[in-house]
Parts: sequence; structure tokens; C-alpha cells
Amino acid sequence: RGIGRFSTAVALEEPIIPPVKVEYTKLLINGQFVDAASGKTFPTLDPRTGQLIANVAEGDIEDVNRAVSAARKAFDEGPWPRMTAYERSRILLRFADLVEQHADEITALEVWDNGKPYEQAAGDEIPLFIRLFRYYAGWADKIHGLTIQADGPYHVQTLHEPIGVAGQIIPWNFPLLMYAWKVGPALACGNTIVLKTAEQTPLSALYVSKLFHEAGLPPGVLNIVSGYGPSAGAALASHMDVDKLAFTGSTETGKIVLGLAAKSNLKPVTLELGGKSPFIVCEDANVDEAVDLAHNALFYNQGQCCCAGSRTYVHERVYDEFVEKAKARAFQRVVGDPFKKGVEQGPQVDSDQFEKILKYIRSGVDNGATLETGGERFGSKGYYIQPTVFSNVQDDMLIAKDEIFGPVQSILKFKGVKEVIRRSNDTQFGLAAGVFTQNLDTANTLSRALKAGTVWINCFDVFDAAIPFGGYKMSGHGREKGVYSLSNYLQVKAVVTHLKNPAWL
Ligand code: NAD
Repeated sequence: RGIGRFSTAVALEEPIIPPVKVEYTKLLINGQFVDAASGKTFPTLDPRTGQLIANVAEGDIEDVNRAVSAARKAFDEGPWPRMTAYERSRILLRFADLVEQHADEITALEVWDNGKPYEQAAGDEIPLFIRLFRYYAGWADKIHGLTIQADGPYHVQTLHEPIGVAGQIIPWNFPLLMYAWKVGPALACGNTIVLKTAEQTPLSALYVSKLFHEAGLPPGVLNIVSGYGPSAGAALASHMDVDKLAFTGSTETGKIVLGLAAKSNLKPVTLELGGKSPFIVCEDANVDEAVDLAHNALFYNQGQCCCAGSRTYVHERVYDEFVEKAKARAFQRVVGDPFKKGVEQGPQVDSDQFEKILKYIRSGVDNGATLETGGERFGSKGYYIQPTVFSNVQDDMLIAKDEIFGPVQSILKFKGVKEVIRRSNDTQFGLAAGVFTQNLDTANTLSRALKAGTVWINCFDVFDAAIPFGGYKMSGHGREKGVYSLSNYLQVKAVVTHLKNPAWL
């Protein structure tokens, strides 16, 4: 097993020089790029080589305090919540246009910092980023309350007001999309923001936030603090002047930030956390199509998707054929420098993730799963891992229970629909599920019985701006995207006015 067994069409030799300069590495506070109060910086590395891309200002408590003060002032005294919703919407639209104009540089930064294939970022993620901001621009002037018929001589109306200062903490797997899911609805509703990026991928958020100011965003409305979780992230989660917290990351960290929010000012928290999503291939499935869909459901973004179809349940009648074809498909997956054309899989984001995934692969072998293909690092530098497929996986193995967050497909056999429902739901997570069948009754039964925030039928990873996303159980609280996300950033005020009785003559 080694490089030779995988597509070498895209060899790893000398990495391509990314077609972009790193211009913004400081914190963005009150519309200005500033150094961290401590003067400290941290390195962000190229996952293709482990080499330095840039040193980035390292925000800490003092910087979070400065950023929250700026956001507070912009909310309490600034124009953003006071301008017409139409004006806000036009700034969001201008921002989307600017991102479109600078799409090449933005894509290159995202790929360089994260390691994801350029074609994936350019084809899927940047267009969706732009679409999300246009979608939320459309909502800005359509947020309104109700008039309510109460018992008695009252005129009752609800005002849907912005909450205030939103603290937002995002992960590294989709740096720009996670930014859009959080910044879009918060701004559309008139809030101000302090956003902490993931320490692995700070660059693209700084670049696009500069464009936001060019689009007319007033200073202090959107502040970006790069830095580490236990320092900058924890300071944001426990800040007394942050009115709402939105977090995406691991379930473990979700518990920590929820605790910090509770211990400080009881700010409401939305959480988008981990998953171990089943992908169910029924006996009537067209095996070739199912193999392809299940492959993408797991391997997309190097397997670093919270909703990855990481438990591939296959009906016993099609199991053997499926395993053979899944193995062949993974074997052909094109791994290489993410800037090269035709590459389907780049490196994992950093050495921690790389080591963690290899450990899970070893545990799969030790626990007796059958390693069909892959299982080792790819190449000799950077954080590349061979596309890996295990068959004969049992529900109690670590690789079937934990979120691996890497290119490791686990195939499990099932016999009946009731059984696969029980086994699919037997997890602490409930983020997503995939169902592959031609039978309408099976599809309907499964979509209702599976405890997951999203069920994809004969498709997977459909991330339209209008479709809500979020988790059941320990996969999170609340929903992002779509109309549901607005309520995360709105406060409802009931205004009750006494009327003369009767109110009319
Ligand atoms: P992580 O929880 O380690 O980090 C996420 C963010 O939290 C980072 O910005 C990090 O700096 C910050 N953080 C870490 N410790 C903190 C603390 N003590 N206080 C405050 N902030 C802290 O997760 P990760 O490894 O960066 O991301 C991968 C995880 O994110 C996976 O488990 C994945 O499933 C999950 N994820 C979920 C979704 C979703 O929508 N449900 C989307 C993407 C990723």
C-alpha cells in the first residue's frame, strides 16, 4: 500500500504556489485592522506541507473586550440597527457582489488555509456563500411581527427586534460557509457581531470582512477576532455584554460554551455540533448510484463534514456488490495538491486531525473490521490520508460510534427496515441521515423514523440557503439557514396598548 496504489495523476512533488497574497492578518475591530493587545501572533500553516503561510494576530480576553465594546457601541449608538431594513439589505447585496468580483483570491485563500480542493471551493462553496448573503439580504426588509387579538380592550402587537451583540464561534472545515450561516442572518436582523474564527483557518474571514466595509458596513458592526478557543473563544462565550452566542464545532466544546453562557449572563445559545450520520442503502437501490452517492457523502471535504454519511448501512442483498464497488471507487479517488485540476481530495486540515484519523484507522483494524483499501498516510509530507474503506463494521466499534472527521468509510450490513431504524438512531448524535431507495413507502417511513435534523432521500449534502440545518440530540440546539435562522437573532417584544372600551363608537 502506498502512493502507487492510488491515483498518481496528481503527484505531490512541489506544491503549486497559491495565486493570492495574504494581506490581512490582524484583528478587525471597529472597522480597523489592529494588532492584538498582547502583541502576540500565531502561525497558520499550509496543510499540504505543514509550512507557515502567515503569522496572525492572536486575540485574547483584552481583544475580545475591545471588540465587544465596539459592537456594543455600534448597536446602542450606531446607524446599523437604525437605518432602514432596505438600506441594510443593499449593503448585504453589495457585499455579495464584491465577493463575486474577488472570488478567485477568496477561493485561493480558503484552499491554502484549509486544504480543500480548489474545484470544490470554487464550484460549490463560494457560490453558496454569495447566495447565502443574497438570500439574507432578501429577508432584511421582510421581518415583522404580528397583531394579536387579546381578551379585553387591548391593541397587541409584537415587535421583532434584533437581540444586540452576537458572539459567533466557527470551526475550520468550512470557514467561509460557517461565516455566512452566522453573519448573514445576524446582520439581516440588525445585530452587531464579534466573530471568532478557528485557529486553523483565520485568513478568508479577514479578507471578506474587509470587503464588507467596502460595501458600506459601518465600523463596529462586524468585528473579527482570530485566536484560540480556550482564550478568545471562552472570553466571548462568557462575556457579560454579549447578548447571544452561536457556536459550531465539536459536541465537547459545545458543552463548554453552553456552560460558560449559563454561568455568565445566561445568553441564549445555538449549537451546531458533531454527527455520526447513517447513510442507508436499501435492497431495491441501484447499486452503482448508491455507491457514488455514499462515497461523496463520506469523502467530501476530506471527510471533514459534520454531517458526513459516516455509517454506511447496506442491505444484505446488495452488500457484497456494494463493498466491492465502494472499494473500487475509493481506490480511484484522486488525491493530491488541492490547487491541481481534477483533484478530489486534499490534505486534512492539520497534524492533530491527521494523527487522530490514523488512530481511528488503527482501532478499526484492531477491532476486527476488514480494511478494504487505504489505511495509511498518502505521500510523505503534509497531512494527506489515503481514502479508506472498512467493511464488516459492527455498531459497537469505535469507528462506528465516534466522529472520525476524515476519509474513512465504515460499511455495515443490515437485514430489515425496523432493524436499520433502531441501529441508526442508537447514537448520541442526530444531525443528518441519507436514505437510498426507490420505494416511496420505505422513504416515507425512514424519513419520519430517523431522529435527525435533516433526512436526504436519494441525495445527500444538499445545502440550499433556504433549507434549515441543525441537530437532534447532542448534535445541537436550534437551526441555521432558511427562515428558521432569523429567530436566533431576534427578540420578540409584546406591546400591549389599552384601548377605550369599546374601541370604536
Ligand atoms: P472545536 O470544537 O475544537 O472548535 C470549534 C471552535 O470552537 C473553534 O473556533 C475553536 O477555537 C473554538 N473553541 C475550542 N475550545 C473552546 C473553548 N473552550 N471555548 C470557546 N471556544 C472554543 O471543533 P473543531 O475540531 O474545530 O471542528 C470540528 C467539529 O465541528 C466536528 O466535531 C464537527 O462535527 C463540528 N462541526 C459541526 C457543524 C454543524 O453544523 N453541526 C459544522 C461544522 C463542524
